[in-house]
Amino acid sequence: MQPYVPGEQPKDGRYIKLNTNESPWPPSPAVAAALRGFEPGALRLYPDPDATEFTAAYAAHYGLMPGQVLLCGGSDEALAFAFMAFSDAGDAVYFADITYGFYQVYADLFRLRACTLPLQADFSIRPEDYFCRDGSIFIANPNAPTGMVLPVEAIEQILRRNPDQVVVVDEAYGDFAPGSSCIPLIATYDNLLVVHTFSKSRALAGMRLGAAMGNPALIEGLSRIKYSFNPYNLDSVSLAVGKAAITDRDWFEQATARIIATRERTAAQLCALGFQVLPSGSNFLFARHPGKTGAELYSALRERGILVRHFQKPRIEHFLRITIGAEDDMDTLINTLEALL
Ligand SMILES: *Cc1c(COP(=O)(O)O)cnc(C)c1O
Repeated sequence: MQPYVPGEQPKDGRYIKLNTNESPWPPSPAVAAALRGFEPGALRLYPDPDATEFTAAYAAHYGLMPGQVLLCGGSDEALAFAFMAFSDAGDAVYFADITYGFYQVYADLFRLRACTLPLQADFSIRPEDYFCRDGSIFIANPNAPTGMVLPVEAIEQILRRNPDQVVVVDEAYGDFAPGSSCIPLIATYDNLLVVHTFSKSRALAGMRLGAAMGNPALIEGLSRIKYSFNPYNLDSVSLAVGKAAITDRDWFEQATARIIATRERTAAQLCALGFQVLPSGSNFLFARHPGKTGAELYSALRERGILVRHFQKPRIEHFLRITIGAEDDMDTLINTLEALL
């Protein structure tokens, strides 16, 4: 097995950290209040295995019924449950050749046959490649590490052409691409599962909170896996924090708008420095410079105290994935690159 390799988490705090798509800011003040108000004595008891209150608040936020939601310990857990629930060993599962690395890891772990569908030369997904498949389909939208968005209409075509397969749309970055979410299609397509995370747009990567949303029959399938594996997948602190986080819409809207504005400004500055920048609907940019290799740029930035992500993979080895950080950190990045080039 080839396990997933997470981005580096340096221990010395010396770096401007633009390598794992975390939020540059603390989570909503409602999260701080929930943590301060948490009664340690409550840890004596097991948490509510059904996460009843949190699930009700989460479902209401998205206009869904509680039976259409399963909350999980990070979206990675939701994805793992989906790989386990909707395939048997040896079954085919489909995803892009360049996408979130965990899909391949889970396919191997659960002994599924990973069938990768190459992105086109411009790194976009060709919807027709996903038509009439004989196994579950996993699509990150926006995709990682490209950041590119597949229009909802294209995903709808894929759903229609695979009525007997589960199509999992991983919207880890969807909050940074307004209008890109497939949640409104849940009412129409019983084969759609949408996966969200609190790690990026809600600044809670350290808490491990994610969700799967879809038809109640799919959610029931995931729930069977959860109750066969770890009924208490969300601890009491996570339940309280998650519920507080989902109810603070104002913080969420301001935080995502600020990231999107910084992303657009940074993309323009990178283009002005001669970078090719892929169109991004996420909280990161995927960019390459014709005059430098990806490895050169990655190391030079690292020596100057800036961590970005570099994938030693065919087709993308000269790209850097740059998380959108605070405004002044992005200024430092641009100034550093300008000096380097
Ligand atoms: C970050 C990320 C996840 C994992 O999120 P967690 O909720 O922290 O487990 C899932 N999918 C994609 C595409 C991601 O980038």
